[in-house]
Order: sequence, then structure tokens, then C-alpha cells
Amino acid sequence: MTIADLPAHAGARLEVPPAPVWPTLGPAEKDALRARIKALLARERAVLVAHYYVDGDLQALAEETGGCVADSLEMARYGTTADAQTLVVCGVRFMGETAKILNPEKRVLMPDLGATCSLDEGCPAEPFAAFCDAHPDHTVVVYANTSAAVKARADWMVTSGIALPIVRHLHARGEKVLWAPDKHLGHYIERETGVDMLLWPGACVVHEEFKGFALDRLRRLHPKAAVLVHPESPDEVVDQADVVGSTTALIKAVATLPHEEFIVATDAGIFWKMHQLAPGKRLIPAPTAGEGATCESCAHCPWMAMNALQNLEEVLRRGHNEIRIDPGIRARAVVPIRRMLDFAAEQGIGTAPAPRR
Ligand code: SF4
Repeated sequence: MTIADLPAHAGARLEVPPAPVWPTLGPAEKDALRARIKALLARERAVLVAHYYVDGDLQALAEETGGCVADSLEMARYGTTADAQTLVVCGVRFMGETAKILNPEKRVLMPDLGATCSLDEGCPAEPFAAFCDAHPDHTVVVYANTSAAVKARADWMVTSGIALPIVRHLHARGEKVLWAPDKHLGHYIERETGVDMLLWPGACVVHEEFKGFALDRLRRLHPKAAVLVHPESPDEVVDQADVVGSTTALIKAVATLPHEEFIVATDAGIFWKMHQLAPGKRLIPAPTAGEGATCESCAHCPWMAMNALQNLEEVLRRGHNEIRIDPGIRARAVVPIRRMLDFAAEQGIGTAPAPRR
């Protein structure tokens, strides 16, 4: 592994905002709000496309109204088939941008355009382009968690669900790989494939907080629990996993493995879908506490938490917060995304979302 030697700000950790606190709604208030949102979705011919990390109320509403709850790859694919003129993406900005890149004729709205991602923010387009220019003999592979401008500079886009077969495919063709932006996921791919990659030094502020020594202690307290880990986590956490995989893979593990207990090292938003599919099973959050932990390190993405029923209603009512992408950037960014989708289709790589209950 070679971690790139880059300007100090490239890949630097963002200052993490506190997660927003939404007013608690009573049952009657919540029902009324949900009913108003359903009417607005019908009026706007809109569908909800929600990520597993957003609030459970949003995931439930997306399913009830014929929308989609999925990982970032399936969210992108769903938008291309949905019979709707407006996609409302409940997630973070790069997900809205990917939906727009693949569906330029559709209106793509988001509850909060400020919902970003530390991986996206830690990989600005200009230094990234300079990094690529300095290594012209490398194939540029970027994770979905990047801006449209960074995707426009890439040869391939991948998600965590398809990164391994694509890197193996490139290696078999004799190509050298430049990987961005998540160094932990990049290192995991290197270890699994044996491919030496040039890595951008980015990290997810949620997954990077999981602590290996504290996980080891927790496992001793729950020796029968299976440990599920997302590969954006550090090596010492990945090394203790029974299952390492994308959000969809971890959800399927809870639904299908015989274990009664699971220790889960990914964003806590995923528990809604896991509980839905396996209501009798015990889910234990992997620990983030330890030296250097902050009050923000609570295993829930502060940007995913910017999505709520309240601002969803607002965006449907006003039609603001629309994703717009420069046509030139869009024309280039669609190429690596389409390449990944075509590869998945050719190889028959299943990326379908976890089933509904
Ligand atoms: S959980 Fe991590 S990778 Fe996902 S959106 Fe938040 S900061 Fe980005």
C-alpha cells in the first residue's frame, strides 16, 4: 500500500458538526405529518429513495409509498427505473448527485443540501485531479462517496458491494490502480485481492471511530455474537469480523445467519432495517468509546441525521434544494458510473437491496 504524499489539506478530517436534534413528535402529530408527505409525493409525482443510515421513519415511509430503501448502488439504479418525475433522495449529497447524473431528465431533491460526507469533503476535485495527473499510468477508481467533479476524473466508480470484483478484474488486465478516497476500504481491498494500490488518505468519520481494543472486550462479554463490520472501519476492527461487507451484505447476514446476537460496526441507522427483517435478534452497537473518542463519535453520521420528516415535507412543498450539475461534469461523471453498472450486469453480481419484511 502506498498512501499518497499529498498537500496537508487533502484527505484531512473535517470538523464534524453536531447531529441536529429534531423536535419530538407525538403519535398524532407524526401521523398527520406522514399523511401530508404522502399527499405531496402524489401531487409532485415523486418517490422517496432512502439510504439505510437515515432515520427509521423515513425508511418506513419510503417503503410504504412505493419508494426504495437501499445502499448507494441500488439507490442509483432504482432512480433509473422509477416511474416518477421527481426523486427525493434521503441520504447525503453524493447520493443525490449520483441520482441526477444517471437521471438528468428527472428533478432530484434532497431534504438538506448541506448533508455531506467526510469522504467526499476530504477529496476535493482540484488536488485529486493533480494526484491523478501525477500518476498517468494508473487506472483511477473512486468510491461512490465522492463529488460529481471527482467522478468526472475517474475511470471507474465502485461501491463497497462491488469494489472487490472490479479491482480483481482490473488487476487481471494488468492495470495499476489509484484508489480514492477511503484509505481503510482501500487497504481492505488490497488485503483481500493482493493488489497493491495507490491510496488517497480519506476516512469516514463514523467508521473510523470504531475501536479494536474495545470491540475485543465486548466480544468477550458476548462470545456467541457474530461480529459484522463495514470495511470503512480500521484494520483492527475488520480483523475481528465474522462478516465484512456492504450495508446490504450486513443486513442479509442478520437475516440469514443462525446467531441470536450480533455486534454491528456500522452506522446505527442500519438497525431499523435489521430489526425489521430479524425482529427477534439482539443487535449490539460496536464500541466507539476510548482514548481520543469525542462526543460526536456515537456511530451515527451527523449528515445522514440532517434528513427528517420535517424537512422532507418542506422540500416537497417548496421544491427547493434541487440538485444541479454542470452538464460538462455530468457527461464525464456518468462514464465511470455506467461502467460499474454494466460490469455488475455482465457479471451477474447481485446488488439487490435487502428484502422488505
Ligand atoms: S457514514 Fe461516513 S461514509 Fe457514510 S455518509 Fe456519513 S461520513 Fe460519509
